[in-house]
Amino acid sequence: MQIGGVDALELAARYQTPLQVYDVGRIRQAIRAFKRVFEEEGVSYEVSYASKAFSCLAIYQVINEEGGHTDVVSGGELWTALKAGFPMSKVSFHGNNKSRSELELAVEHGVGVIIVDNFHEIDLLSQILEEKDAEAKVMLRVTPGISAHTNEYIQTGQVDSKFGFDMASGQADRALELVLANPRLQMAGVHAHIGSQIFDVRGFVGCAEKLCQLAEDWRDKYGYETEILNVGGGFGIHYTDQDHPLPAEEFVRAIVKAVKRQCQEKGLELPEIWIEPGRSIVGQAGWSLYTVGSRKDLPGYPSYVALDGGMGDNIRPALYQAEYSAVVADRPQAEAEEVVNLVGKYCESGDVLIKSCPLPKTEPGDVVALLSTGAYGYSMASNYNRNPRPAVVFAENGQAKLVIKRESYDDLLVLDLKY
Ligand SMILES: *Cc1c(COP(=O)(O)O)cnc(C)c1O
Repeated sequence: MQIGGVDALELAARYQTPLQVYDVGRIRQAIRAFKRVFEEEGVSYEVSYASKAFSCLAIYQVINEEGGHTDVVSGGELWTALKAGFPMSKVSFHGNNKSRSELELAVEHGVGVIIVDNFHEIDLLSQILEEKDAEAKVMLRVTPGISAHTNEYIQTGQVDSKFGFDMASGQADRALELVLANPRLQMAGVHAHIGSQIFDVRGFVGCAEKLCQLAEDWRDKYGYETEILNVGGGFGIHYTDQDHPLPAEEFVRAIVKAVKRQCQEKGLELPEIWIEPGRSIVGQAGWSLYTVGSRKDLPGYPSYVALDGGMGDNIRPALYQAEYSAVVADRPQAEAEEVVNLVGKYCESGDVLIKSCPLPKTEPGDVVALLSTGAYGYSMASNYNRNPRPAVVFAENGQAKLVIKRESYDDLLVLDLKY
């Protein structure tokens, strides 16, 4: 089993486990595949990597090398992008409760777009711009009344989302009035994000149509022409064989076609189309390597096979029953011989990485790889039970490079002060 042309067992031996490994070539391919569709369709666009999926210096470097933009959702992500040398003009700053200091940081460093979420933020940002005698480019995040999750989407869903300005009640119009009335705010466009791990293009098409409708209303009511239409992310990926995602590019093609059709019908200038993929950039590019330890067998029940990581490095199964698949690294193609509960080492019964996982027989010391763990794994990692967080390695063209060091026991004490 190889990742980025490097043997998985060699990686486990060299860097120890638990280990997060990325095939950087796959990250690049994912970005390029999105870009290709936009280029084939001949539209202006940006692919903005939603970096909450995985944020560290090295990933911002790779995204920048590929000419991408990036989304950040906190001062910490913003700071990481800044320190990675990521151009601040290509950063979009999201969040439903950005603090004064986060907004100040964004304004000071000239972040490309602040995606304004609510009325409090309009006030706060306006104050900051006044104090700093500065200007900012903004987009308004709206809730189009569509929510989508995997195979379902709901036309009237998500009206009560905690994010964004509601369209139906006139909040979005009021927000636009406030932005247009403030010369320090440059209105760049409109944004919506309808959900995550979506397999059905209809949600995106519906969203694109709603945003075009809004663009038409805004032109007719305010004479404002929407320059950027940002349809968010959430393109579904393959975690297990139950998942049948479309190629991510197909989503983009459907979105672009819907926007083109709508603009033609409504006589609108074709806006730039922005997307914000997170998991579809890094999810399937990531593997988690663990070493098998203890085992518990009980007649009549599935056995427990325990790994040296768990909910501290990947909380998704415990948090929302996310599913993964696994292979044994020295025989990834081997037939399954048993069905086990693959559990972690944390002091919670809910610390199950994969329930009822078909696997060949394993021994202590075997390296097990979980697939498609590149998104929302490390980025949600914790030090629960005072376990150090794993190392992260980037592999590409047969070369491996450590990009996040494994935490040491001393690292765990860096912030502690004696009483
Ligand atoms: C989380 C998020 C994304 C990315 O979602 P994925 O499922 O990782 O593609 C994009 N845009 C916004 C606003 C988000 O909050």
